This record gives sequence, C-alpha cells and structure tokens, in this order.
Amino acid sequence: MQRYKHVYGPVLSRRLGRSLGVDILPFKTCSYDCVYCLLGRTKTHTMELAEYVSRDAVLDELERKLAEDRPDAISFAGSGEPTLNSALGEIIAGIKKMTDVPVVVFTNSSLLWKPEVRDNLAQADIISPSMDAVVAQTLQRVNRPCEGLDCETIYRGLQQFCHEFRGRIWLEILLAAGINDSQSDIEALTKAVQGLENLECVQLNTVVRPPAEKYVGAVSRERLEAIRAQLPGNVQIIASFFGDKGGGHGKKTVTADEIRDLVERHPSTLEGIAEGLDVEVERIRPTVEQLVGDGVLAANECEGKTFYVVTNPS
Ligand code: SF4
Repeated sequence: MQRYKHVYGPVLSRRLGRSLGVDILPFKTCSYDCVYCLLGRTKTHTMELAEYVSRDAVLDELERKLAEDRPDAISFAGSGEPTLNSALGEIIAGIKKMTDVPVVVFTNSSLLWKPEVRDNLAQADIISPSMDAVVAQTLQRVNRPCEGLDCETIYRGLQQFCHEFRGRIWLEILLAAGINDSQSDIEALTKAVQGLENLECVQLNTVVRPPAEKYVGAVSRERLEAIRAQLPGNVQIIASFFGDKGGGHGKKTVTADEIRDLVERHPSTLEGIAEGLDVEVERIRPTVEQLVGDGVLAANECEGKTFYVVTNPS
C-alpha cells in the first residue's frame, strides 16, 4: 500500500464525524506556539506565506484517498497553521472539483488580516477560527505569537473575515486554567465575541490532550458552564475526550504507517485511533504496543487517559 504524506485518518470528531485530515505544512510550522499545543513546541515560528507543500502533491493524494473512502468532512489541520500555505485556496478549489464532501479549515486566526489569506479561505464550507485571548499579555501567555503579530491586528482581521465570509463560522475559544480564564479575560472575550458578525456558534474547549507545556491544565466543567452562560450567542462546550465509544467496528488490516501518520498529527487514545480508522480496538492494540516497544510512539497521560504521541516527528 502506497503511503500518504499529506492526508491522514480519518480522525473521529464529535463535530464533524469521520474527518479526513489534510496536512499542508512541514511538522510544527506555525505563527503561534500555544502552550497547550498537542504537537509540542513550534519548530518554525513564522508568518510568511509560502507553498510549503505543493498543491499537486496534496491533490494527488486526496484523489487516491477519496477513491478508497468517503469521509464526512475533509479538514485542514495537522502540523501547524494551514493558512500559512499560499496554495490553500487552489487546493480547496481542487477538492471542490473532486467531491461534495464539506471542506473545513481550522485556523488560529492570526493571519486573517492578510487579504490573500481571506481569499484562500473563501471557498471552504466551514471555518473554525480560534480566539483564545484578546488582551495582549494574555495572548503572549497562551498563544506566544511570532514577532510582528499583535493582538489588535489579529482581532481586526478576524472581524473582517467574519464580515466577508459566506460559509459557516464556528468560533473556538480554548481556555487553560490560570492562563487565559481570568474574569477580566472572559469579560474582554465576551466583548470581542459581540463584535463578530455571522457566527453560527461559539465552541468552548479546554486542555484534553497532552499540552506542549507541562504546567498547562484543563478548566473545570463547572467553570466552563459559568463562562458559557456569560458569553453571547449560541455557545457550546465541546471539550470532551474522544475514544469513549470504545473504537470502531471494521475488521480490516491497519498498517503501522497509518497509525503513525494519524498519531503524528493527532495524539490519540487507543480507542480514538481505532474509531478514526474504523477498526476494532483489539485489531490495532498489538501494532500500537509494538510501535511503543520500538520507540516510535510514546504513551503520555492527560486527564486520566493514555494518549499516544510520535516520539520523533518527521
Ligand atoms: S495549537 Fe494550533 S495554533 Fe497553536 S501552536 Fe499548535 S498548531 Fe499552532
């Protein structure tokens, strides 16, 4: 079986169902270096747009993958901030010629002030921009933006994007205990949400996977409920552990490469890997254990669950 370099999963998502991941960046290339990032610390901290991964390479793989499987969504996420790839708009246009599966882009919002980034996103069906902080000091504490990015510019870009975009917008706010969840931060976020047009919903999240920095932890369910009541609009709490359903049902053979490729972009529990790849847990357990034994994967604890991560990302 030919290996995929830019397409992984599908990953099971409560919001999107079985979502095929598309990764259009070298590992951990991002304009942010979030303290909660499940991929660890940023390696290439940049706000420069470039065709980091070629459009044709991504579209070739997608064509092959979509001939094998029909996911519920195709989502851009993975190794960093997808809007850094200058070919994103052309890749989305190429997908639209292949399939009617909805295209979703998860973005940290930091580059939406650039008109070419807003243009590149225009043909997507759903955009999930994040906004974890609107106070400069808090932004530094939680997202650690690269030099040249400031809080005000980022928020104005997000406002402009929400004003222009014709698809669905799911705003995500991730809160980490003691980092960006103070009452004054929540008040500032509340005002900022009020200033954004066309939001279908606001999704509140917290730290549920192993974070980049060990001192970062989850906000309690009660606190999230209280914050939910304070924020305007349709606010949902999406923080949850995937893998609670106990895996998929398929009996196909899953290769070690498929497991490694999924876990590299999306640290997961055993059940989460099995659900995403739609296979029974027991069919992947020996391969995962072998990968841990060989030092390819490591097992990390987070909020009482064991997550598998790649020890040496490519
Ligand atoms: S969480 Fe997203 S935006 Fe933050 S550093 Fe990781 S990849 Fe970048």
